[in-house]
Amino acid sequence: MSDISSDDKINAVAAMIAQASRIVVFTGAGVSTESGIPDFRSPGGIWTKFDPEDFTIDRFLSSAETRRKQWRILVEGGLMKARPEPNRAHYAIAELEKMGKLSCVVTQNVDNLHQMAGNDPEKVFELHGNMRYLKCLSCEARYVADEMLAKHAFDEEAPVCERCRGILKPDVIFFGEALPPGVFEQATYHANNCDLLIVIGSSLVVYPAAYVPIYAKEAGAKLVIINMSSTPYDRRADVLINASAGEVMERILREVRGRI
Ligand code: ZN
Repeated sequence: MSDISSDDKINAVAAMIAQASRIVVFTGAGVSTESGIPDFRSPGGIWTKFDPEDFTIDRFLSSAETRRKQWRILVEGGLMKARPEPNRAHYAIAELEKMGKLSCVVTQNVDNLHQMAGNDPEKVFELHGNMRYLKCLSCEARYVADEMLAKHAFDEEAPVCERCRGILKPDVIFFGEALPPGVFEQATYHANNCDLLIVIGSSLVVYPAAYVPIYAKEAGAKLVIINMSSTPYDRRADVLINASAGEVMERILREVRGRI
């Protein structure tokens, strides 16, 4: 892989990281594609296999049949089949935290891979929830999805809350549902107070998530965008790298280590 992006750009980003002390990393599906998780929107992605209508909050709440269907999807591992592992992009981001440079990660992903790579869960703001958990819609009890799967894999009906028999829903944001309370506000706070925001693997087309990098830029931070395709904010980036996340982040971190 020769010229996926010029050394100049890699060096420029490394220099920015070396100087920064409050970095916010903003990630989307592109950071996880190397881990084998398909982009929800791409051909062959989730929505070519499942009906997005089944993932609207209205349908989920009103139809026991939809909940049953979703439970079968979880049981059959339709969404998370191969037990994905973090890739070199996730590890590079975790290394930024070890260097003491990271304010937080703001992610659109629900795959838990930042935490698995070593980022402090307290510093990972998940705008769209986390697929690893189920949450009771009545009492807010949270369950590890794998543990419920182990207990209820052969049940016909979707399991209910062990405390109050409420409906259990994957702890991710469905279409038509509000973001988890407080999470976007915290992401906005960190964006307003960072000195460098690095977008990795997001096309910045889903709102309100896509506001986060813009808030940072407007508050005076430097903006780096690393994404395979173009985004609506490319012209506002201080450095724009159109390439996949893994190799680029690996090269950037190698440079950074030499500078701090
Ligand atoms: Zn409950």
